[in-house]
Amino acid sequence: MVKILPRREVVIVGFGWTGAILAEQLTAEGLDVVALERGVWRDTSTEYAVTNIQDEVRYRYRDELFEDLSRETLTFRNDISQTALPMRMLGSFLPGTNVGGAGVHWNGQTWRFLPSDFVAKSHNEERYGPLADGMTVQDWGITYDELEPHYTRFEDLCGISGKAGNINGQIQEGGNPFEGWRSKEYPNPPLEMVLAPKMFAKAATELGYKPFPGPAANMSQAYTNPLGVQMAPCTYCGFCEKYACGNYSKATPATTIIPALMQRENFELRTEAMVLRVIKSPDGKRAEGVEYITPEGEILHQPADIVILAAYITHNVHLMLTSGIGTPYDPRTGQGVVGKNYAYQCVSGVIVFFDEDTHINPYVGAGALGMVVDNFNGDNFDHTGLGFIGGGYIGQWQTNGRPMESHPVPEGTPKFGAGWKKAVRESYGHTVGIGTHGAVMSHRGNYLDLDPTYTDAYGRPLLRMTFDFTDNEFNMSNYLTDRAVEIAKAMGGREIREGRRKGHYSIVPYQSTHNTGGTIMGSNPRESVINKYQQSWDLENLFLTGAGAFPQNPGYNPTGTVAALAYHTADAIRNIYLKSPGPLVQA
Ligand SMILES: Cc1cc2nc3c(=O)[nH]c(=O)nc-3n(C[C@H](O)[C@H](O)[C@H](O)COP(=O)(O)OP(=O)(O)OC[C@H]3O[C@@H](n4cnc5c(N)ncnc54)[C@H](O)[C@@H]3O)c2cc1C
Repeated sequence: MVKILPRREVVIVGFGWTGAILAEQLTAEGLDVVALERGVWRDTSTEYAVTNIQDEVRYRYRDELFEDLSRETLTFRNDISQTALPMRMLGSFLPGTNVGGAGVHWNGQTWRFLPSDFVAKSHNEERYGPLADGMTVQDWGITYDELEPHYTRFEDLCGISGKAGNINGQIQEGGNPFEGWRSKEYPNPPLEMVLAPKMFAKAATELGYKPFPGPAANMSQAYTNPLGVQMAPCTYCGFCEKYACGNYSKATPATTIIPALMQRENFELRTEAMVLRVIKSPDGKRAEGVEYITPEGEILHQPADIVILAAYITHNVHLMLTSGIGTPYDPRTGQGVVGKNYAYQCVSGVIVFFDEDTHINPYVGAGALGMVVDNFNGDNFDHTGLGFIGGGYIGQWQTNGRPMESHPVPEGTPKFGAGWKKAVRESYGHTVGIGTHGAVMSHRGNYLDLDPTYTDAYGRPLLRMTFDFTDNEFNMSNYLTDRAVEIAKAMGGREIREGRRKGHYSIVPYQSTHNTGGTIMGSNPRESVINKYQQSWDLENLFLTGAGAFPQNPGYNPTGTVAALAYHTADAIRNIYLKSPGPLVQA
């Protein structure tokens, strides 16, 4: 039997980056907010203490911070002619669970998208003519200018370390000259660079590029954020990606928002609350609330005036489909919107091996410690005749040398045994990796829907992912990798090893947790699931946050934009929706 709980003003599903931002913003307005998180509570000061965190077995290989695939997973295939099979081990991406979500174990590379990224369809068509066949790239219905103040709010919250490249239209020496205008400098100076990014920057400069310090949510100095929460300077321990930060040096929901939010009496967090569906009103026009299950198997109905899905893109899409909200996308007809334009990130790399007198010491690292060139991102260069649109950045991130995970070896090295060990010994301290981080343009055949065969532990159909890279990604990635090889050669190492993008997308090796699309944003309900305020076109009191909003995925990490959109949504709820509840007019 379902137990009905007292009504609340706002219920938030999922308590990661965007759930925490919305909870903070709406409780500050005096709203009564309850957040439902499927995972458990974890306290930075105890669970993630410095002494506990540097445990590769526990966190990287036993997946302690990632979602539990024995209860829910997804099925995967490359195209609609195939039968999708369940993902039974985590690989290509690592969605988070527990309080703070994937925000706890991210790297902290905190980007803004380019102004032209938000008008990708109209901008590219105007400059290069019609999009390639099958490409379903769309404009976002929101502009960079509208998001700029919200990017700034997130950067101030996190204390981002960086160097501005464009303040109010004035290009700044040492920053990214290609970025959109920003209203002020970053709140903290860049991280102090170490040897490898300096070598990369020198070579890139010699080739005529404009390297700059990657924007980092790792603290370059002590910082107290606008909520009064203090963070400490980063110690370069190299345990950021896939780990929490026990040193309070990486901005996460737990180190920036949660200490302040948990003091507020109008906020309640319920953990181990697995939301199973959104309940629609009898007339199908509003969300009545959500239904969730406790570890004891009790099913509870939480009614609310406003429902916010902040459960990461795959779960937001799953909840929409299993709750029967909106029209599912059909790749055969191109009709429907829920699940449409699933996209990802297209990465490649080059490793430079140096002689033993170049001591890189890969233990010295931080999640966003690096130098980057943006000359080949978005439309920062002329694509005429190149066979692709979009691009990506090329960077040398000195993120870690964690011994179980990091053992680069030259081409042709045996995969195990004495030969492999010798190569690891010789290479470990003397290699530099260069990464390319490319866009994925949306395509008619890449989408999310419900699997017809497999179900989760709660009896719901699994989400089915259908995805493969297209010619646009291969052409783009090869172009970026060629540029990375040129920089690698200019660095003057003994030999290089290329890791080019080849073959079908595989869900097995880790690539990035930058899944996007499926609940995309747009200017009309025919082409999108949400409007520019992230309000559902179907249910006026339902809002969705996260990278599901992206109509395609630009060449940057997503979270800066995900967070900026969350602030924009909070403002829309506070300033427009509460005064006149209903569909928000797209200005
Ligand atoms: C290893 C790693 C490194 C990354 N590095 C970077 C980086 O350097 N830069 C960058 O921009 N991005 C990075 N990311 C991506 C970044 O973490 C995400 O973009 C960000 O956390 C997304 O915020 P969110 O609020 O949408 O989801 P999350 O922060 O993941 O929060 C979602 C929450 O919802 C909960 N939830 C899900 N389903 C339910 C349900 N049914 N009921 C209740 N709760 C539910 C989950 O448990 C989770 O806590 C990285 C991600 C990973 C995994």
